[in-house]
Amino acid sequence: MIEVDLDTLATEIAELIEHSKRIIVFSGAGISTESGIPDFRGPGGIWERFAPEDFTYQKFVGDATARRKHWCLFKEFSLNAKPNPAHLAVGRLSQLGRLDCVITQNVDNLHQRGGVPDEKVLELHGNMQWFRCLNCQQRFPAEGIISKLGKGKDVPGCDICHGILKPDVVFFGESLPEKVFREALERAGCCDLCIVVGSTLVIYPAASIPEYAFAAGAKLVIINLDPTPLDDRAEFIVNTKAGEFLPEVVQRVRYGLD
Ligand code: ZN
Repeated sequence: MIEVDLDTLATEIAELIEHSKRIIVFSGAGISTESGIPDFRGPGGIWERFAPEDFTYQKFVGDATARRKHWCLFKEFSLNAKPNPAHLAVGRLSQLGRLDCVITQNVDNLHQRGGVPDEKVLELHGNMQWFRCLNCQQRFPAEGIISKLGKGKDVPGCDICHGILKPDVVFFGESLPEKVFREALERAGCCDLCIVVGSTLVIYPAASIPEYAFAAGAKLVIINLDPTPLDDRAEFIVNTKAGEFLPEVVQRVRYGLD
């Protein structure tokens, strides 16, 4: 096996960024593991302790016992996780004017906290920072809801109508938010570079976004610890920690578009 020189790779990817006009970043759980958020599916992940089949939208809405299990899981989500150097590097790319948008499978809000403006973050699976009442549709910040859990309420309801509160994230058995998915496809279809960060590209339909970008003529860069099904189509594949590598790339990018 050829020893890969990460410095050279970082320089070459930075040059590719400089020569690209519309860049999207597609991110998955792997970008946030370095912020202490375990990949649901990975070792130590949530699904080693909870059974995924208990966490469908249908069970959440239809069964009070299942709903209580959900709330035990919600408590596991840390709202205090901080963006890591990979998130900050994506934020820097945005500040340099080189980022069209981030399309993310994550629900942790860390791209926004890493410096990417809200309107440039397309969240395919929602955002755990918000809860929504399934009855009156009012949204509530998660912080206030989660703090009620600490005060002995195991299943908080809506303050306004006592309806069922659900995190504003996509559950199993729920479809992706149509408007966000459509916009993600549109932007993927118009970009000339798609940088995949921390996704093994196996969860559909989310993984169809970089596929679609490639089919529409974009170049692919994949930064992920493990191989992905799109590796054979990528211009560059870097199997290393995004938090260590991505900052190296972005600091080599010069200001301004060509
Ligand atoms: Zn309500």
